[in-house]
Amino acid sequence: MKKRHISIKTYITTSLIILLGISQIAIFFVSFFLVSDRLKKGMLSSMQGEVSEIIERLNDYGYEACEEDGRVSYLADETAVRNNGRVMIVSRDYEIVKDTQGDRTGSYIVNKNIMDVMTGKRQEYVSMNGDSIRIIQPVRDDYGITGAVVVKASLMMIYNSLYKQFAMIGAVILIIFSLDILVILRISRGTVKDLDNINEQMTHAVQGNLQERLTDQRFSQTQEFAENFNEILSRLSSIDQTRSEFVSNVSHELKTPITSMKVLAESITENEGADVEDYKEFMGDIVEEIDRETKIINDLLTLVKSDSQGNDLNFEESDVNEMMETIIKTVTPLAARRSINLEYESFKEVMAEIDKVKLSLAISNLVENAVKYNIDSGWIKCSLNSDNKFFYIKVADSGVGIPEDAKDKVFDKFYRVDKARSRDTGGTGLGLSITRSIINSHRGTIKLYSESGKGTTFTVRIPLKQDRNRTQLLTEADATIDKA
Ligand code: ADP
Repeated sequence: MKKRHISIKTYITTSLIILLGISQIAIFFVSFFLVSDRLKKGMLSSMQGEVSEIIERLNDYGYEACEEDGRVSYLADETAVRNNGRVMIVSRDYEIVKDTQGDRTGSYIVNKNIMDVMTGKRQEYVSMNGDSIRIIQPVRDDYGITGAVVVKASLMMIYNSLYKQFAMIGAVILIIFSLDILVILRISRGTVKDLDNINEQMTHAVQGNLQERLTDQRFSQTQEFAENFNEILSRLSSIDQTRSEFVSNVSHELKTPITSMKVLAESITENEGADVEDYKEFMGDIVEEIDRETKIINDLLTLVKSDSQGNDLNFEESDVNEMMETIIKTVTPLAARRSINLEYESFKEVMAEIDKVKLSLAISNLVENAVKYNIDSGWIKCSLNSDNKFFYIKVADSGVGIPEDAKDKVFDKFYRVDKARSRDTGGTGLGLSITRSIINSHRGTIKLYSESGKGTTFTVRIPLKQDRNRTQLLTEADATIDKA
């Protein structure tokens, strides 16, 4: 079942509203109970004071003062009115000598609570339940307990005024809560505004618009996110552009030999008087074009493979000297044809973790280029050296050199300084791209030093050991161009 997602805005809004609602309700009720408890306790202690006063008067004037208009009776009535309740004065033999409500005067009252107080089992009886407070206190003289005062007071008045006050407080809290909700809505809308923008932009990018960029964001995190996203967009569009350029280059390069073949085939068929020798010559040319086409396709395949970032690299501890000697041996006949002197100097025995087949191809490209772009009777000097971390290969030639403005382009796919010369020498413009890609996948670097008309030097640096655990560092380590 598909998981249902809620929006961040809903999440923030509901969480804050619930949090705030719960805390405001809690504050309301806690303060209500604290205040009512305080009031009840205050009332209790004032009632206790009043009861003590009645007891004092009883001791002063005796139980006779409980009769109508007696000094005790008067005080009891006053206390009952003040507390909105009832006062009863009970004599030693449990007779009610004064009842402020009048109806029980002269009758007897016997229950557990009053007996506990009268017999001295309890110092005082206090009960606070529901909406009333009840106090029973003993009346003592020098000889012992002579009776008891029972006071009952209603809490209704307290509760009524409390309810009124808290109804007002509740209303104020509700108004504040409604304002809070408005603020929360604003906050949550403001918080997700950046995300909404970014999301919208991403949708545009998914639909193919890679040109729009995110502008200033409110928060540092979303700003960072936007900058990274803009960077990804730039890279995507540059990849997009590179890809279309590459496709158009490939099509162009593949078309050239086919066009030549077509021209050759048409001209021979249109030539009425052509003899077998002519046909042989034209067919020879056509075969050359086919070879060329094959070479371009093979180079493209090699490039695609080496560009797939060392996935299929086969690193093995190998003798780099041996590899270099094999390359020199293979290229020497090519150099000899143009009387080019090819020298190789090894400063050390070098054993390194390399993919020998691929690296041979990369270095062969450099040495072959040194022949292709050399002058007749020129020279090529190759060398191998190492320190405790890297080995270094240098290929220097006395050739035509590379012009300043072309130095940063020669590693690009299909780039050739002199198209005609490259074509004459069977070049495809992919050699240096392949070389750099292979060297990069060995976590190495390649640098180029050249001066037009004087010669070119390529230096390659590769680590002796490949760190298998480390992700291959395959940055586009473009040739660092130093002025020769
Ligand atoms: P190509 O197949 O054309 O040789 P590369 O990728 O090997 O393609 O080289 C790209 C271009 O760089 C060449 O066409 C050439 O113009 C220039 N180049 C490469 N190596 C040298 C060199 N040693 N001396 C002068 N120019 C060179």
